[in-house]
Order: sequence, then C-alpha cells, then structure tokens
Amino acid sequence: MSLFKRQTTSVPATPVAPQSSLAELALINIHDGVIILDRNGKIQYLNPAAATMLETKAADAVSLDFGLLLKVESIEDAPLPDDKNLLLRAIRDGQPLENYKVCFVIGRASKRIPVSVSLVPVNDQNGSRIITFRNIAKELAEEGEQAEFVSTASHEMRTPVASIEGYLSLALNPQTATIDERARSYLDAAHAAAKHLGQLFHDLLDVTKLDDGHLRPNLQPVEMVGLVKQIADQYYPQINAANLKYQFGSAESGINTARRLDQVVYGYVDTGFIGEIIDNLVGNAIKYTPAGGSIYVNVRGDGDHILINVTDTGLGISGDDLPHIFQKFYRSDNSDTRTIGGTGLGLYIVKKRVEAMGGRVWAESAFGEGSTFYVSLPRISGEEYEKRMINNNKVQGGTQ
Ligand code: ADP
Repeated sequence: MSLFKRQTTSVPATPVAPQSSLAELALINIHDGVIILDRNGKIQYLNPAAATMLETKAADAVSLDFGLLLKVESIEDAPLPDDKNLLLRAIRDGQPLENYKVCFVIGRASKRIPVSVSLVPVNDQNGSRIITFRNIAKELAEEGEQAEFVSTASHEMRTPVASIEGYLSLALNPQTATIDERARSYLDAAHAAAKHLGQLFHDLLDVTKLDDGHLRPNLQPVEMVGLVKQIADQYYPQINAANLKYQFGSAESGINTARRLDQVVYGYVDTGFIGEIIDNLVGNAIKYTPAGGSIYVNVRGDGDHILINVTDTGLGISGDDLPHIFQKFYRSDNSDTRTIGGTGLGLYIVKKRVEAMGGRVWAESAFGEGSTFYVSLPRISGEEYEKRMINNNKVQGGTQ
C-alpha cells in the first residue's frame, strides 16, 4: 500500500482550480518575464511581468515579431553580430538556452535592460519557444561592488610583494650589497618566487574582474593595423635580446603573402584590452621560442572580421594540450616548458578580453613546429568609423 494513497484519502478534499487556471495564475503572478513565440518568432503570449519590464501592453505585442518588440545587444554594449547572438540563434533553431546574459533594448529612447534569459523549445504544433527572463541590473551593480573590494585588497597585497622584490634586487646587486655565493643562490630563488607572486596577484586581479563582468571594455573606433603595429613594435628590444627575428605585416589574405603595410582596417575596440592581448601573445611567443627562431605579427581584414595573428617558430603545443590552453591555470607540462615560468592565466585573460569585445581567439600548433594564435574581432566600415569618431568627439566636446 503506497504512502501517498493513504495520505490522499486522509486529507480532506479542498477545492482545487483546474490545471490550466493554476498555470495561468503562476504566469500572471511570477516576477520573471515570460514570452511564448511560435516557430517563426511571432509572439503568442506575454505575461504581465514581461509587459511591465518591456514597457508594452500584452495586447499590442501579440502577433508581433520578437525582433520588433526589442533589440538584443551585449551587456558590454559591444557589437553583437547575428551569428554570435545565441538568443536569436536559439529562437531560429528551436534550441534550448540557459541563463544567457544580454541587454534588451526597447522603445524609441533605446532603453537598455540587462537580463538573464533562457529558452525552452516545446514540441507542440506551433513549435513554441518559451522565453523566460529576469532583470539583472541589481546583480551587476553588486558584482561591481565586490570587484571594487577585491581590487582594493589585491592592491594592498601587491604593494608589500613589490617592496620585497625591490629589496631582494638591492641585495642581489653587487653595487649595493656584498653577499657570498651561497646567499646569492638563495636570494635568487626568493627573488624569482617574489616576481612570480607579483605576477600572480596581477593576473588574479584581472581574472576576478573579468569573471565578475566588471572589466567592461571601453570601446572606441580605431584603425587596427596601426594600433597593433605600435603595440607589437614595443617588444622589439625584448625580442632582439632573446635572439629572435621579428616581422610585422598586414594583408587581405595569407600570412606571408602580399604583405602590405598600408592596409587600413577599422575596429570598435578597447585599446587597453588590445594592449593586454598582444602583450600576452607576444610575451608567450618570446618565452616559448628558443634563440634563433622568429615571431610574426599580422593584422588583416577578412570580410566583416579583423584577423590578428601572432605566429612563432618555437616549441609548439601538443594535440593533448591544445584544447585546454585557454583554461584557467592550465600549463602544458613537458620537459621543455617545465623550466619556463608562468601562471597559466595569460591565455584565459586573453580569451575573456577578446570575448568581451565580441571576438574569438584560437590557436593552431603542433608540438615542435611553432604556434599561431588567431584573434578575430568584428570589423567596422570606414563610413561607420567616421560616424563613431564624430559621435565620440561630440561627447568629449560636450563634457569639456
Ligand atoms: P603561462 O603563464 O603558463 O604562459 P598562458 O595561459 O599564457 O600561461 O599559457 C598556457 C600554456 O599554453 C603555457 O603554459 C604553454 O604551455 C602554452 N603556450 C602558450 N603560448 C605558447 C606558445 N606561443 N608556444 C608554445 N606553448 C605556448
């Protein structure tokens, strides 16, 4: 005899609403927005929370195309091309989607509402797609406060480490201190560890901010060939000191073919982010390429994308390691790389920064045969570049 059966018979019968009105009651009263679309993306239903959040009336919205009700943009206000827009893709293909963070942009005033949105496809005759979403403005603000705290704490920790590093440098410098050979070897090890710790604090701080979504890109219209060349060229002395060759080029296609330095490719990027990305990729190319090798940096236009590549003729990455190198703390472990210092956070930071600007990063490599790291970013036309420059100047002029 089942426990449930006994229970149901002993509980006095209470009047229960029919199932459909209970479901309706839930839809009317929950705080999350619910929109039901048909397979063509037409709105079939909008609950009151969705209507309130999107500042519309359910009756006006029903039968409209979803795309006419609102626009979907990235949280960071970065370009979100249709092929990168997972919500539009899920609606089109009827694929499930969970907790995707984007901005809904509504009305003539283009009001931005940050939301976490999910989609569940239903196998009914309309091919319904149930979209649920909630406003995450408060969460984002709280994350910002947390990141602020971590940044202050991390700054406090980095200061004493920098001072330890400084004093160890003084102790190791024959002009400022006299030490015997055994003490030198101990202090050398302590100095290397202090430097590693300093780098770890720096990278951890970056990762915390990136994970919190706190490090938002400050996007600007920029000519990319000039920008990347200017950043990469700064590494020339370091590359030279490591006894490596360096070449910068730009072309419409191919790495070593038709190299043209006069190509103009426009992007809408954060120049600080680009600096960190090139810093990590060129820094790795120097670290993992033995003397006598070469490093090539290229920028080229590739349809509606900008393709940057950093290529080296160094140690290369094995097929086992390649799928993991962009993960947090991942370092390939072999006799060649074991002796080279690092935190395993550089490529994770690169990936996060590239993605925050609406781009993609990947690597092609084989063990012992060098590596090429590709960064692909959305490209803007010359016309759009001019337009955004004028807007930027207006904003700057207005704040002066
Ligand atoms: P690390 O601080 O260890 O360099 P990264 O996240 O920058 O951390 O890189 C992760 C791992 O990827 C490295 O430990 C190294 O094994 C591999 N790697 C990165 N760049 C290169 C490169 N240019 N050539 C060979 N291996 C590389």
